[in-house]
Amino acid sequence: MQEKILQDLWKVAQGKWESGVLPSADSLARARASLPTTLLAAGANLEAVQRHILDDLVPAFNGGSISANYYGFVTGGVTPAALFADNVVSAYDQNVQVHIPNHSIVTDVEFSALGLLADLLCLDRSVWNNGTFTTGATGSNILGLACGREYVLRQAAEKKGVQLNSVGEFGLFEVLHALGLSGVQVLSTLPHSSLVKAAGVLGIGRANVHNVCRADNPLHFDLEQLEKELVRTDKVSIVAVSAGEVNTGRFATTKEHLSQIRQLCDKYGAWLHADGAFGVFARVLNDDPEFATVKQGSEGLELVDSIAGDGHKLLNVPYDCGFFFCRHADLAVNVFQNANAAYLTAGPPDGPAIPSPLNIGMENSRRFRALPVYASLLSYGKDGYRDMLERQIRLARGIYDWIYNHPEYTALPETSSKSDLLDQTFMSVLFRAKDDELNRELSKRINDTSRMFVSGTSWDGAPATRIAISNWRVDVERDLELVTGVLAEVARR
Ligand SMILES: *Cc1c(COP(=O)(O)O)cnc(C)c1O
Repeated sequence: MQEKILQDLWKVAQGKWESGVLPSADSLARARASLPTTLLAAGANLEAVQRHILDDLVPAFNGGSISANYYGFVTGGVTPAALFADNVVSAYDQNVQVHIPNHSIVTDVEFSALGLLADLLCLDRSVWNNGTFTTGATGSNILGLACGREYVLRQAAEKKGVQLNSVGEFGLFEVLHALGLSGVQVLSTLPHSSLVKAAGVLGIGRANVHNVCRADNPLHFDLEQLEKELVRTDKVSIVAVSAGEVNTGRFATTKEHLSQIRQLCDKYGAWLHADGAFGVFARVLNDDPEFATVKQGSEGLELVDSIAGDGHKLLNVPYDCGFFFCRHADLAVNVFQNANAAYLTAGPPDGPAIPSPLNIGMENSRRFRALPVYASLLSYGKDGYRDMLERQIRLARGIYDWIYNHPEYTALPETSSKSDLLDQTFMSVLFRAKDDELNRELSKRINDTSRMFVSGTSWDGAPATRIAISNWRVDVERDLELVTGVLAEVARR
């Protein structure tokens, strides 16, 4: 029975998602009605539990990862290699928290996966093979701001000759007090909501995340204003780059911008973090002129201090998986050390010194979430991931092209140059309907077709709709036909 179910699940995950991208109201109602109201004293047999899950609950799932036409949020999918590995992870249930080289290979595999990921993203291993796997980019942003907070206050303490220098050790309040500072601020342009959340979690404060945008382009840093903030003596600063803004998919910087920002951060002792949840993957593109503009947006990320990225988006591994890279090898342990747990355990004499994950990230006990990453990277290689991303970009551009020419729709951000719009398009399409009434309902009407799913958002103070393409199953021709078919139909009504 169990084997049969596993085989069925494998087929589901490998095959096409046949039903709508959203569950029917009936399926949802039936699933809801099937939820127990209390825990019975006697357990049911395994087979009954399996049937309940498969027959009652699964029909009320959405096509999020399995359908190629679920374009809400940025969900990614699950590659066959990652799916296999994830089942192995559950079956063997290894705890990846302490590096004990003669007890298990898992920490070595995690370290190797991080190195392979650095290779994929063209990050020099000798600098970047530090970091860890997290539950997602939110977790990685928390790590980035936490390391930044530690670093900028250490810098400030050093300058003033103050001993109280580690937030991890002494707490934020005591360190700020000893330094005569009023706080830490985060300077960014259109940061993702999770970065603001991270500031809240870390005692920096959501209100201390500031946009320092240029008036003519909200995604680009106003360098003059940035310097004015960095020069302040009452606060220390972390600069956070939106390496992929979530509505437009566009990049905040180019290599030239980033080197200017890097210089300013060095001058004033600021930390430079990049939220590259999905955008960091633009680094897999090669020098093909077709993708030159988006590639440029990801160039220079090797200059920052820390990078947050997502595994469960463009890498197409299952939830929950993110990653964090940091160029300062010994900094994270000041923040995340677990008292009494050895930081480094020597591996084989010629092997690398691998840190115990519990000392450099938030959790102690951890899932072996690096294995699906490892498996998928081995299975696709750089070329496979490049091909996947190119298909995603081409589909996004195809959709934009169609929208730009359609009398009922407006492509966003508004521009008079279609070729400029297409050049800047990564894997997101932002648009609205010209008719206000249709526009208010646009996302809902598209989703009501259940043939594709989009996210509603807002842009320039009015409702907008976003199509985010992140699934490995993308087929440009097939999906372009489906998407434009749905959009044409919705516009006619
Ligand atoms: C999705 C996203 C996040 C948050 O990532 P989670 O995986 O949901 O934790 C952060 N930043 C950006 C730019 C994102 O797109």
